[in-house]
Amino acid sequence: MEKSFTTRSLNIPFPKEDPHRALDMPVYESIAFDFASSEDIAANFRGELPAHVYSRTSNPTVEYFERKMKTLTGAYQSLALASGMAAISNTILALCKAGDNIISSNHLFGHSFALLDQSFASYGLETRFVDTNNLAEIESNIDENTRLIYFETVTNPQLEIADIEAIVAIANKHQIVLVVDSTVTPPVSFSSKSLGVHVEVMSTTKFISGGATSFGGVILDNGLYDWSKNPNTKDFREKFGKDAFIARLRKNYYRNTGGAMTAHTAHYQILGLDILELRFERSYQNCMALGEFLSQHPKVKKVTYPGLKSDVGYELAMKQFNGKPGTVMTFDLESQAACFAFMNELEIIRRATNLNDNKSLIIHPFSTIYVEFPEEERKAMGIQPTMMRLSVGIEAAPDLIADIEQALSRI
Ligand SMILES: *Cc1c(COP(=O)(O)O)cnc(C)c1O
Repeated sequence: MEKSFTTRSLNIPFPKEDPHRALDMPVYESIAFDFASSEDIAANFRGELPAHVYSRTSNPTVEYFERKMKTLTGAYQSLALASGMAAISNTILALCKAGDNIISSNHLFGHSFALLDQSFASYGLETRFVDTNNLAEIESNIDENTRLIYFETVTNPQLEIADIEAIVAIANKHQIVLVVDSTVTPPVSFSSKSLGVHVEVMSTTKFISGGATSFGGVILDNGLYDWSKNPNTKDFREKFGKDAFIARLRKNYYRNTGGAMTAHTAHYQILGLDILELRFERSYQNCMALGEFLSQHPKVKKVTYPGLKSDVGYELAMKQFNGKPGTVMTFDLESQAACFAFMNELEIIRRATNLNDNKSLIIHPFSTIYVEFPEEERKAMGIQPTMMRLSVGIEAAPDLIADIEQALSRI
C-alpha cells in the first residue's frame, strides 16, 4: 500500500547525510561554499564535480525542498524559485523566444495575464488568449511558432475547470509543451503527471508555505516531453538528454535572472509542506460546510465551488482533483453595497487578498484586484460587482458559519 502524503513527506532522506544526524534540514544561510583544492573548484566549474558553489545557483536547503517536491509529486525534475511569478516567467523564458507564440486562457491570475499581455509582448512574444473550454478554439490558434499552451487548473476567481486530458491530447498531437499552473490545487488533490501534463508550475506562497509565511515557486518537469521537439531546448537535449529543460533553466535563466529561493524560505516551505495534507483537508471540509450553509441562506444569490454537486465544474472536479478542487469559493449577494456592508461586519474572516492562508480571507474582486480594468471588461471576465471571493482557512467550521451568519443578519 502506498504511504500517505504526510508520511512520505516526513521521511524523505536528505541529499547528503547530516554530520549531526539532524532531524530537520538545517538552514544553510551561506552564500558561498569552500572547496578543498584549486583542482576541485576548477573541476566544478568545468561541470565535472557537482557541488554547491554560490546560493543564487543552488543551495543545500533549497535542494532538499526541491527533492521533496519532486519525490512527492513523482516529477522527473524540480526547481524552486523566489516566487510563483518567478517560476512562471522562468518557465516561459526557457521555452520561447521572440517571434514565438503562446496559447493561454482568457481567465488567468492577474499578474500572469499582465506578464503575458504586457511584459513578454514587449519582447516580441505573442500570447493568444482563448476560452480553454473551447477545444476547437485552442487548436485553431496553433501554428508553427506555437511553443506552449498555458492555463490554470482552477481559474481564480471564476473557479472554472478545463478538461486537462483533452488539452494534453491537443498538445501531444502538435508536439507543443503543455504547462499548467496548479497553485489552487496543491499536490494532495492533483497529480499533473497522471493526467499527462508536461510541466507544472505553482506558487508555493499559497498552500505550501504553511500559511503565508514566505514567497516561493516551483517548476516540475514530469519527464513526459521530448525536448528535441522544441527548437529552443533542442541543443540542450543533445547535451543534457532528458534534463534539457531544467538544464536550460538553470544555466540561462534561473541563475541569470536572479530568481533563487533563499535557504530561509526553503525552511519555511519544508515545514509547510509537511503539514500540507492536514491543512488542506481541514480547509476543504470547511469549504464544503460553508458551501452548504451559504447555498441555503435566503440572502445569498449564488454560490460557486466546484466541490459542490450543484456546480457546473463538479464532474471535472471529481475526475481531476478527487472531488477537492482547492479551497477557494465565491458567493453573491444582491448588490455591491450589500457585499461591502457584509464584509464590514465580519469578525473572524479577514478582508485581505491572499489565498490559502491558514486564516479565512475575503475580498470583493470587482472593486480591488480587477479595478484597473474597464467595467465592461471586468464583467466579460466573469467579475461581477455582486461577487465576493472567500479563501477558506483552517478555523473550526462552526466558528466560520457563526461569523457569516451574524454578518448576514446585520445587512
Ligand atoms: C498567487 C498566484 C501566482 C503568483 O504567485 P506569487 O508567489 O505571488 O508570485 C500565480 N498563479 C496563481 C494561480 C496564483 O494564485
